[in-house]
Parts: sequence; structure tokens; C-alpha cells
Amino acid sequence: MSDPAAVAHLIMELRHHGIRDARVLEAIEKTPRDLFVEDGCLSRAWEDTALPIACGQTISQPYIVAYMTEQLEVSPRHRVLEVGTGSGYQGAVLARLARRVFTVERHRPLLEQARRRFALLGLDNIETRLADGYKGWPEAAPFDRIIVTAAAPRVPEALLDQLAEGGVMVIPVDTPRGYQELLRIRRTPHGFERERLIPVRFVPMLPGVPRPGSDT
Ligand code: SAH
Repeated sequence: MSDPAAVAHLIMELRHHGIRDARVLEAIEKTPRDLFVEDGCLSRAWEDTALPIACGQTISQPYIVAYMTEQLEVSPRHRVLEVGTGSGYQGAVLARLARRVFTVERHRPLLEQARRRFALLGLDNIETRLADGYKGWPEAAPFDRIIVTAAAPRVPEALLDQLAEGGVMVIPVDTPRGYQELLRIRRTPHGFERERLIPVRFVPMLPGVPRPGSDT
């Protein structure tokens, strides 16, 4: 069960750190983060911090989830692609704001657990796939919005191809200066416009799907 005081405290902190979109704040408030963290981290579920999950991955910090969701400018008409399902938390937040969410993960155990969580919450507008997100989800493209929750060396070509005209992508990429930054890319009739947002720290986006039992 979510502790109402802890939930209220997090929402207050997010507001304090500049998250303004009421729909985003409401989606965070209504998505029980307790359900998406490991049992050992339950007491910290509503802290504004990233936490470890299975397969050596992390559930993102709520501020980053809120910030990326806000910058993505999601509306109830949108079909959204998420690369990096992880715990499923970001996907569940998006499912409250979008028409349909397509989420791709390369680790089978994470994907299966996320699917169970979506079912438990009755989120029936999320489709999941075990696949290499570098390839996107060609059969379901184009997407109005694309969000990537692992850091890539550069923006994958397939994801640019699968972004609809007028679409927006938010993605962390490595910089030559050794840190990662969040980019927002808009597809206009004339090409792609890139905007640099904030420095971030994500797990790496890795190619391929690992063999069963492997951690990489
Ligand atoms: N959105 C997640 C964050 C998980 S961390 C959440 O809310 O919990 C990033 C995830 O991206 C990890 O689970 C990792 O396995 C996954 N990932 C990394 N490279 C990937 C790729 N090429 N395709 C799909 N998923 C990938």
C-alpha cells in the first residue's frame, strides 16, 4: 500500500523542482511506485531516487520520469513507443496519459514482471515486446512520441525513421565530454530539430537480446 504522506511529499518535491504539468503530477500520484520496486526497497518506494531492480538495471528517479514525461508533451491521442521497459514504472505513467503505449525491453525477466504489474493495475493500453530497442517496433510505427530510458552513444536511426511527422522523441545520449544529456528531437516537415535539455545518468542502451541466464 502507498503511504499517502509519502506520496504527497514526493508530489510536493516534484513541484518544488519545477514540474508544472498537472496531468503528469496526477499520473505520478496515481501510479503506485511500491508495485515497481524490489521488496528490499519498499520503504524507499516514494523517495525521489533511482533504485536497483533485477538484471542489474534501475527504476528511474521519479523526478526524471516526471521531467521526461513533461518534455514529451503526451496527449490522450498519442501512440507512444518506450525503449527500456525495466520495472514498467515509466510505461505505467505514460499509459495514463497516452492512447496506447508500446514498450520494448531486452531482458525477459524484467519484461515478464512488468507485464504482471500492468495487468494488476488494469492498464490494458500497453503492449510489450522482448526485443532490441535499437530497432524500434517497425510494425507499430509511426509513433507520435518516442521515449528512450537507457543512454545510447547516438540517436538510433531506426527510431528517427519511426517518429511521425510532428512527433517528439526524448532520449539520453552520451556526450564526448563523458556525461550523458537528454535530447528532445522534433520531426518537422523539413527534418529533425534537436534541443539539449539537462545532464542525466542512465544505464547504457545495449544492443541485442541477452541469452537466458545472462546478465548483459
Ligand atoms: N523505464 C524504466 C527504466 C529502466 S532502466 C523504468 O521505469 O523502470 C533501462 C532499461 O532499458 C533496462 O531495463 C535495460 O535492460 C533496457 N535496455 C537497455 N538497452 C536496451 C535495448 N537495446 N532494447 C530494449 N531495452 C533496453
